[in-house]
Amino acid sequence: MPLSLRTTLLCACLVTPAAAQGNVMVMRAEQIRPNLTVISGFANGNILVLTGPDGTLLVDAQSARRVGLADSVLTNIGAPPVRWVINTHYHPDHTEGNALFRGRGAEIIGQEKLPGQMLKDTVIDLWGGWHRTPADPASLPTRTFRDSLTMLVNGERVVVAHIPAAHTDGDAVVWLPDANVIHIGDLFEHEAPPFIDWWAGGRVEGMLAGVDWGLAHSDSATLVVPGHGPVGTRGELLRYREMLLALTTAVSMQVAAGATVQEAQAAQPGTPWQPLLISPKRADEFVALLYLGLQEFEPAHDRGRFHPSTPEARLPWLLGCWETSRNGRTIRERWTVVPDGSLAGQGRTLRDGRLVNAETVHIAAHGDTLRYAANPSGQAEAVFVAFGATDSSVTFTNPAHDYPTRISYRRRGAAGLDAEIAGGSGGERVLVFPYEAVACGAD
Ligand SMILES: [Zn+2]
Repeated sequence: MPLSLRTTLLCACLVTPAAAQGNVMVMRAEQIRPNLTVISGFANGNILVLTGPDGTLLVDAQSARRVGLADSVLTNIGAPPVRWVINTHYHPDHTEGNALFRGRGAEIIGQEKLPGQMLKDTVIDLWGGWHRTPADPASLPTRTFRDSLTMLVNGERVVVAHIPAAHTDGDAVVWLPDANVIHIGDLFEHEAPPFIDWWAGGRVEGMLAGVDWGLAHSDSATLVVPGHGPVGTRGELLRYREMLLALTTAVSMQVAAGATVQEAQAAQPGTPWQPLLISPKRADEFVALLYLGLQEFEPAHDRGRFHPSTPEARLPWLLGCWETSRNGRTIRERWTVVPDGSLAGQGRTLRDGRLVNAETVHIAAHGDTLRYAANPSGQAEAVFVAFGATDSSVTFTNPAHDYPTRISYRRRGAAGLDAEIAGGSGGERVLVFPYEAVACGAD
């Protein structure tokens, strides 16, 4: 799909004189693929619009106050009637608008935890007296799912997957594999600090798992629609992951050391991550949110996952699925995070679609070193050690091993990875595997 479409503004900004806190309400439509448009505006959640002969499918529906304007944009771009709305989570700026489309007969789809969260009436004293008011029953989902569902709409496969305990307890990510587009909801707020709704089951480790789901289903051409902010790329999602983990780690260590929230803020862990966090004030708010949640809610903090020495913190650019071909063989690697912050790798070699070789690898931290333990099928375990890693490369060595004696990974942008094995007595033999990021698929 031509990426140049990304910059096309299909309709000029639709501006109404309606004032909101002194601002003019602006709704913007950006065509990102021939049949896909993103409607965004103000602080409301981004709507992904899939149009075609079957009718229109929306991912999220904005607030009651702004959905009318979003609806005008749909008319402007000539979208057929809305037949489906998929919600990424319960927050009102993503779900209140459901009522408008449900009233016209649309099916409203959400993870099964949504109705319960939408109907809660609670005041959260720990977060400035945030009052969660019950949703209009007319905006509730008409169809729920537990783990995932797949639809075929306008010739596009639409895969909806639940990410447990992340931004909330009922998050859904929406993947259109043929269009190569992901709407990842508020698991990714682009160019704004993340929010974790601890009181609705949100957790940092689920946020990271959701981002990893995005990394595992993206390549160099994927467009990642965030809950808020501009449409992003795999690289921007990876950068956001690094920021989220770095700040969580910094605050987790402050909490463990008995620091106060003011001390945690005074350490300014957000400084290297500006402008991703917008301003020092917003960074302070995020530090306060993390401080509160790590103390009260986050089991991974208690398990010690958030530490700068973990492979997750040092080699996040390995995460995802990688593929290359050589001599008629397809070689794949898949890297995921283990709950303790170590990394698990799976390697597979296929010839004509048939598995000819498989191995598992585990990278764990041992003090300052990283230990790479490879278990090729049918052979003894081989262990390699790295005495350091840069932010874009790592080399593991084992001089006593027959071949290879050296294994290196080098990051090439955000969707490329060069793996190299080298060694051999009587003349060095070097093999390079120029991997590209691919969507992991089912295997
Ligand atoms: Zn949200």
